[in-house]
Amino acid sequence: MRGGIKSDAAIKALTTFYEKYPHYFDPEFFLDDEKGLLEQFSKRLREVGLKYNATIVPKFWMKNFQKMYTFWDGNPALLLQGVEYSEIKERILNSGKINPLHPHGFFGFREKMVSMLIYFLVEGGFADSFHFPVPIDFHALRIITAHEILTTDSGCGNLLTQEYLAAAREISLEFCRETRTNPLDLCNALWLMSRGWCRLHPGNSSEVGIYHGRKTHVGVSKKSSWTEKNTATYEKTCGMCPIKETCKFLIPSGPYYRQGRIEIRGERKEPPQMNLFI
Ligand code: SF4
Repeated sequence: MRGGIKSDAAIKALTTFYEKYPHYFDPEFFLDDEKGLLEQFSKRLREVGLKYNATIVPKFWMKNFQKMYTFWDGNPALLLQGVEYSEIKERILNSGKINPLHPHGFFGFREKMVSMLIYFLVEGGFADSFHFPVPIDFHALRIITAHEILTTDSGCGNLLTQEYLAAAREISLEFCRETRTNPLDLCNALWLMSRGWCRLHPGNSSEVGIYHGRKTHVGVSKKSSWTEKNTATYEKTCGMCPIKETCKFLIPSGPYYRQGRIEIRGERKEPPQMNLFI
């Protein structure tokens, strides 16, 4: 999650939270908006390590569950029922104004989270698979940018604009439709590739300075050179990558998570020793 908590850590903490307090996952529990419920909820989330936005998250959670109970029978799978992606998005997306008396619109749900919710509901077997844009997170953006699937005039600046995100969503949807790819498979491939391999290219590692919000310094790591260890890692990652022929750029995660930027750091290079005898 950008600037917040790592998704893996959040899921593990939520699992612990569910095991300890399952009633917080029942929309009916939130019908009584009694004083003190929110404070207790926030305290319990902190207890399991969910401290990020600990005053806002419980409020959003509670309001979303109240709407879910009132209009959707307490069942999020109904949000996906009987309509295509555009209407599903309409039902879930927070478009700026949320009316508690209207069934549409949930706090914390912009396009990426709409796709995440669809992903989890389909993956969990609560809904049939269908075409939707993959969640455009850092990992999807890294692959899309490194392979020049999308290009922009922004040059070496920050590529992370609303237009870029919208184009990335559109292209993922088109790709899945045209190649009959299950969006879940595309999500998994993007995440596995970027998190498992791309991050290990030494040019993608960063040095992060003392925390100053979006002004935190992020630079190239001193450990980015082609040491023996980095070269050996390269051989087991990029060196074996099935899409390496089209992978042109380094896209480090540091600027994204610390500064909200997608930056091209330069061309993705191979260890020089690999080309010594060419
Ligand atoms: S070549 Fe390396 S950086 Fe490019 S997609 Fe493959 S693993 Fe990622």
